[in-house]
Amino acid sequence: MTKYDVVVVGAGIIGIAVCDELAKRGFKVVVVEKNPKIAEETTEGNSGIIHGGFDPTPGKLNAKLNLVGRKLYEEKWFKELDFPWQKVDSLVIALSEKEKEAVEKLYYRGIENGLQPSELKILTQKEVRNLEPNINPIVDSALLCTSSYIVDPVLLTYALWNRAKANKAELFLNHQVTKIKESKTDFLVTCKNLDQEVTFTCKKVINAAGHYADEIAKMIKAQDFNLIRRRGQYCILEKTEAQTLKNHVIFLVPTIYGKGVIVAPMPDGHILVGPTAEENIAKADTRLVDFKHLKIIQKLGKKIIPSLNVERISKLTSGSRPICQETDDFVIRYAKHNQNFINIAGIKSPGLTAAPAIALQVADMIDRTRKGEK
Ligand SMILES: Cc1cc2nc3c(=O)[nH]c(=O)nc-3n(C[C@H](O)[C@H](O)[C@H](O)COP(=O)(O)OP(=O)(O)OC[C@H]3O[C@@H](n4cnc5c(N)ncnc54)[C@H](O)[C@@H]3O)c2cc1C
Repeated sequence: MTKYDVVVVGAGIIGIAVCDELAKRGFKVVVVEKNPKIAEETTEGNSGIIHGGFDPTPGKLNAKLNLVGRKLYEEKWFKELDFPWQKVDSLVIALSEKEKEAVEKLYYRGIENGLQPSELKILTQKEVRNLEPNINPIVDSALLCTSSYIVDPVLLTYALWNRAKANKAELFLNHQVTKIKESKTDFLVTCKNLDQEVTFTCKKVINAAGHYADEIAKMIKAQDFNLIRRRGQYCILEKTEAQTLKNHVIFLVPTIYGKGVIVAPMPDGHILVGPTAEENIAKADTRLVDFKHLKIIQKLGKKIIPSLNVERISKLTSGSRPICQETDDFVIRYAKHNQNFINIAGIKSPGLTAAPAIALQVADMIDRTRKGEK
């Protein structure tokens, strides 16, 4: 039986980014994934925005990793990896005087989070309409952020996987982790592969199982967090609708629909409208779409760009944010009783943006315990 340094559970953007970083550092690493393909869960059902970093609550881990992660995209991933991305500024639009207060708050929050004043600007109605002439004419003002990007998260995950594979990482698809046994020196990670059981021996385990991270942690009594799910549904419009936008991701100010509903260009030329924010979703329903919410998304899309033809639907999709109930923040820590097991959980938005920073942080944690072993 092959013995690995590290088993990573889950081949979403987080598990694959961590695997890539560990393989680069010379670890013998394997990823086990229950699905037949990588990046089929939350990594596929999101807005695909690399956020500037003005939105997260200052002081939270996700605020810090947003900024570090975004800079790592700029300095490393955009240069080193072959995947579709574009620099696209973002606008958070205020449609009333009252919403302008929210836009101003976001500006100051961005500065508190470490953005440079040169990356953020509050625009007047005239300036907004010059940038995006088809925007709702009742627009009052907007927050412009010049350090955001759009990416294809699935193709990014494949690009990372290709690099990890070149560095001798391994991947087993259709392998669902069902049991983890720990001994003094090793872990035995058992997976269900069709009708067979396959067991991997390793020194360290990284739990990057998304919505199932709680269940994986429970297998070694290391579940010190609880997860809930908030679903977001999207409507992807035909490429013809791209003519209504110049080149911005346009957010409504955050409301009950979460961090902000957007109308945004996609790297493949389609237009993305959504997401909703539906609470208390069952694990089996994290990628469900329904027609009731389609109407809401279409209405919100037209609120941003009235001339958008929201009937020209190419695809409906969805994803759910895994949320740590206790902290509403990312969980990235060793199991309390065993530093060879690391939980990465509650990776809601901006997890895609933070992915390179999470990978570095977790690889450093693994390095630290390896040095302790010598
Ligand atoms: C609506 C929405 C919009 C978002 N927009 C943005 C955005 O614009 N920008 C941004 O930065 N972030 C955004 N995010 C957040 C981002 O999508 C997530 O943080 C990120 O995708 C999380 O990736 P992950 O690898 O942790 O999870 P996942 O992609 O869910 O991967 C977990 C993997 O683990 C596997 N797995 C589970 N259980 C097992 C098991 N027992 N055995 C083996 N494998 C298992 C799953 O099959 C899955 O492939 C958004 C999220 C949502 C839901």
